[in-house]
Amino acid sequence: MKTRLTIIGVACILAGILTGSYYAEDLAEGAKTTKRNYMNDPFVHPAQDNYLVLPETWPIYYNREPLDRSPQDKPSKLLTMGTGDPAANTYRFGPAMALIVNDYPYFIDCGEGWFRALNRSAITQKGVDLIKVFDLNNLKYLFLTHLHEDHTVGIPSFILSPYKYGSATDKVIFGPSGTEDLVDCILLGWQVDRQTGTQGPTHASPAGSSAAVGEIDPDNEFPGPFFEDDNVKVEAFRTYQAHGSLKYTYAYRFTTKPDGRIIAFGGDGHYTKGLVEAAKDADILVMEGCTWKNLKYAPWGGKTLAEKEKNIGALHMFPKDMKRVQEESGVKAIVMVHEQNYSSPENFNRLALLHEMQEAGVKNIYSTMDGDLY
Ligand SMILES: [Zn+2]
Ligand SMILES: [Zn+2]
Repeated sequence: MKTRLTIIGVACILAGILTGSYYAEDLAEGAKTTKRNYMNDPFVHPAQDNYLVLPETWPIYYNREPLDRSPQDKPSKLLTMGTGDPAANTYRFGPAMALIVNDYPYFIDCGEGWFRALNRSAITQKGVDLIKVFDLNNLKYLFLTHLHEDHTVGIPSFILSPYKYGSATDKVIFGPSGTEDLVDCILLGWQVDRQTGTQGPTHASPAGSSAAVGEIDPDNEFPGPFFEDDNVKVEAFRTYQAHGSLKYTYAYRFTTKPDGRIIAFGGDGHYTKGLVEAAKDADILVMEGCTWKNLKYAPWGGKTLAEKEKNIGALHMFPKDMKRVQEESGVKAIVMVHEQNYSSPENFNRLALLHEMQEAGVKNIYSTMDGDLY
């Protein structure tokens, strides 16, 4: 299935209301929630050439267990299942969000460990009944912001893990141009798992082992609404040239029907007008963040600071850009994920990126952990 998407005009209203104050996060309080002290080891040798996320080479910046920060009067909930990035950080699963409306989940991006992230959230987060929400046959809709592997490597599991346990629900996956090829390759590559005979007594039918794809229309900068059901309306906004050389990247704007929350998912990338439109007067923008002040400690992006600024800046969101997005969109709160927080070994601080964002003027911004609710 290939869905052609409707184009609508998008009102451009730059006025936004910035309300509330800074969110204060107490690191000491957070640290009390974990007994695993090795996670509080300092980041000692930044820029050392090793891909493994160890205190010696990359910051781990794990500072607490999951929290419920969602408005208690709103039944719709945002669950940050996986808050990591491509780094092999064992304390954060790959990028994976779930928006839960009327006890039904809509998944946004599908990073490494998606099935385990879902399970871990069900263990650690009691702010919503995730065992009910994650009923096997509810695992159906996935929206991809872009096709980088850290946001898509969980797709085989998204399609086949529920099937393996008895789901008869075929999946529906929306994403940029190229999603159909990716899903076709996965279905072909994992055909051994799709053959009913290989699944033992669980399945007599192939139902649930496939996925339909809806690609966002690549010819439109503001594709607009493309999905609606009883729970949500979803609009797509192209975030043009936001993320390195990627041609098609999108921000999604979800409107929840029971309680009228507007939650935007920006994916990866720096400031764009499309991102501003997606987050216009929204309650929450889920967005990546990257340090500017401590960029010299980044263990990737080049040898010199100038190279890091150029290479990392072409791909990611620095604080001054985050402020610009917030000011122009009027978004009320920012849920920061996919953090690149590289502070110095002498003054390593797990919340340094949060503080840098606040110092740059970003308001109501949260540093997340896997399994939080917003
Ligand atoms: Zn990413
Ligand atoms: Zn990316």
